[in-house]
Amino acid sequence: MSTRVTAAPADQLTVRRSNLSLVLSHLRDAGPRSRARIAADTGLNKATVSSLVAELVERGLVGVGEVERVGNVGRPGQTVGLATHGVVGVGVEVNADFVDVTALDLTHDVVLARRTTADMRALGERGAIALVIRCLGEALEQLRSAGSSVVGVTVAVPALVDSGRGRVALAPNLGWTGTELAAQVDAGLSAYEVHVTVDNDANLGAIAEHALGVGRDVDDLVYLAGEVGVGCGVIVGGRLVRGASGFTGEIGHAPLNPRLEVCGCGRVGCWETQVGLGVLLNGCARGPDDPVLDGDADIDARLEEINARAAAGDPATLATLERVGIALGLGASVLVNIVNPRALVLGGYFAALEQHLRPYVVHTLLERVVAPEAGGVQVRASKLGFTAAIRGGAVVALQQVFSDPTRVPPAVVG
Ligand SMILES: [Zn+2]
Repeated sequence: MSTRVTAAPADQLTVRRSNLSLVLSHLRDAGPRSRARIAADTGLNKATVSSLVAELVERGLVGVGEVERVGNVGRPGQTVGLATHGVVGVGVEVNADFVDVTALDLTHDVVLARRTTADMRALGERGAIALVIRCLGEALEQLRSAGSSVVGVTVAVPALVDSGRGRVALAPNLGWTGTELAAQVDAGLSAYEVHVTVDNDANLGAIAEHALGVGRDVDDLVYLAGEVGVGCGVIVGGRLVRGASGFTGEIGHAPLNPRLEVCGCGRVGCWETQVGLGVLLNGCARGPDDPVLDGDADIDARLEEINARAAAGDPATLATLERVGIALGLGASVLVNIVNPRALVLGGYFAALEQHLRPYVVHTLLERVVAPEAGGVQVRASKLGFTAAIRGGAVVALQQVFSDPTRVPPAVVG
């Protein structure tokens, strides 16, 4: 008998938690609506929805807004929506020459974005991690002063990452090997009691595109991150594919370049020696002093300059875009043959130059993918650009709250 008595409340708590998650996630996916509509949409009864909404309000996760009239009859209901301030998730991006920190609220709006530039490689591993901790500490302090409550931090790294252990196995562009990054950042931020996770930047880019970008409507997508290095994130059936050790998606090092040029990883013939950002910029440059090669200048402005040169018919620029576009299509066709995604999302610099690269990519896919019409894949350009990974980091942090809203304690009065 005692087993039944103790089991019942535990079951009720589990059901309650799962229903809180259902309502909160529904408001994220479907937008603000009345309690009556939430009940109709989710199949929960109205009294239960009212009680769940009251608890979510108490925890600062939803707000009750203006009046919504459904149809022409009956009483109007107040609209319930996700809270637009208060609870935030934080993404951090560590790259060869900057540390970015971005905080998103539950509606995925940016509430904070900071960039600190530094030669991360020159700082050495200890110095670079100390800088990450300092940037994060300042951001957390700023968020705290603004009354925000941080539910988690995810660090995006251009690296092979064992995300389960928060360990960077290898980050060639940073010079890190076997770095216990999550543990070190966690220890450095012990005053803030935030949960820190670490993930590969392309994986987080894929998560962002699926959660809030151009891949929202599909559950099978490949996200290609065009940066100095090139990686991909693969989502199949709505879930990120990680592989046995977490290293899925290293397409940049697939041996696709027959000219066997030397890659940053030390091998020869890697795909990124044909499609990496450096290759594109060098191909378009008119000489060593060309401003498109100026690493201190804003990358978006430099890519705009390349778009302008292409529009003006500059032969070197057009030839480079053709060469890169065809190589991009070849690598993409390998992925499309293996994964059969509904969407192939071009991210990073590929998105910025999409209008010039896309025709070559589409043509090559149709030629090289064995399935009719390239398996129905749609080539889409990211609208998140270089911010996809960091937003994905914040999304992952927020996901903890959507999965279990009781992680956020009820607001303390005063
Ligand atoms: Zn390589």
